[in-house]
Amino acid sequence: MSKRRWRACPECDWVSALPALKSGEAAHCPRCDRELSHRHDAPAQRVLANSIAALLMLLLTLPFSFLSFTLAGMHQDIVLLDAAQAMFSNDWPILALLIALTIVVLPGLYLLTVIYLYVGIVLRVHLPGEVSLARGLTSIKPWLMTDVFLVGVLVSLAKLIGMAQIGFGWSFVAFCFYVLLLVRTVRLVDTDWLWFALCKEPAPPAHAQTGATAAEQQLVGCPCCGLLQADTEAYCIRCHTKLELPTQLRLQATWALLVASVILYIPANIYPMMTTVTVGGAIESTILGGVLQMVDLGSYLVAGIIFFASFVVPVAKILVLGYLCRLAAKPQLLATPQRMRWYRVTEFIGRWSMIDVFVVAIMVALIQAGVILSIYPGAAAAAFASVVILTMIAAMVFDPRLLWQGHTGEPDIELEHADVESTEAPSEQGAEIRL
Ligand SMILES: [Zn+2]
Ligand SMILES: [Zn+2]
Repeated sequence: MSKRRWRACPECDWVSALPALKSGEAAHCPRCDRELSHRHDAPAQRVLANSIAALLMLLLTLPFSFLSFTLAGMHQDIVLLDAAQAMFSNDWPILALLIALTIVVLPGLYLLTVIYLYVGIVLRVHLPGEVSLARGLTSIKPWLMTDVFLVGVLVSLAKLIGMAQIGFGWSFVAFCFYVLLLVRTVRLVDTDWLWFALCKEPAPPAHAQTGATAAEQQLVGCPCCGLLQADTEAYCIRCHTKLELPTQLRLQATWALLVASVILYIPANIYPMMTTVTVGGAIESTILGGVLQMVDLGSYLVAGIIFFASFVVPVAKILVLGYLCRLAAKPQLLATPQRMRWYRVTEFIGRWSMIDVFVVAIMVALIQAGVILSIYPGAAAAAFASVVILTMIAAMVFDPRLLWQGHTGEPDIELEHADVESTEAPSEQGAEIRL
């Protein structure tokens, strides 16, 4: 069997051979069903077209009016970055930085990096710094939150309906396109294809076998580019990412982050998320207070979204991760795919908790009509943002490979997708770069 393009599953450590994939096909791990690779048609052109268009839209979202607010003859126009500026002028510089980073700076860097790398691939030239930049893409990806911000804008508008007149500016239209194109770009960037196009693929060690875990063969899969190699290497021989064997040390770090999130979750619920100042006085609202306020006003959908994002998701995430840490602490006889599903869901939905923080930022920026109606951020916004960030890092630090330790046995999932354990040699076609 050809030993090109073998992978150790990043979630269960099972070694399998990637088959030749046609466009639109995906290869999944035969043991835990995690997607290992997904091939798109004309990947380079499609990624370039989407990323360049997304970058242009990003530039258009910055200068023009984003939203406007009119109340009792007072008119307020805001640009996109006023959401960050409002937090900065209310003495929450870290929150301001977080908002600017997740909606403009990091997505901008991501798009510029993608364009740079793919232009090099299309022109078939090696550009300076391409390996470090491609590694950076993997680190930046979880922190792109433009889609969450867009939902935050919609929730803020639903909260404001009836209170004041709200207008949309050109930047808002550009922002919607920017979000769509960025999400598409991220989906189209296939890490496996990208690393092959940049650095080809060194063959795995001669003793490597499929149908067993990498750890039991003294092998390790790179967490960034996926390359299978000997576990004596400290850094990946292809992308230079630090290689790590599944160790219990990761569990302690996950526990520490979870405990810190539980502690911060208390002030996040006790202190006000925001203070609304009107002629009648100041009203402070906590996370749950805000939900009840929306229920009173009859906005059940908004109340439901905020309750789910700010209450159900963080609590469920802390509980599920804590449970998985307990399971991973001792070797398991049965690590069912269901547990992996919980892990994937917590990792996927965690970032959506930022909705309420974005809602506060947008309302604070938009509603500044002096004593008639003004909104200020509360201490809970900072505490809650920290909970979201810490639980996201906890899910990244948690090593799902630990859940499968002691689980020896054949794959317990039927192969519905491309059969990655195919006995046919993966043809060169699968590894070839088709631009
Ligand atoms: Zn797997
Ligand atoms: Zn690597």
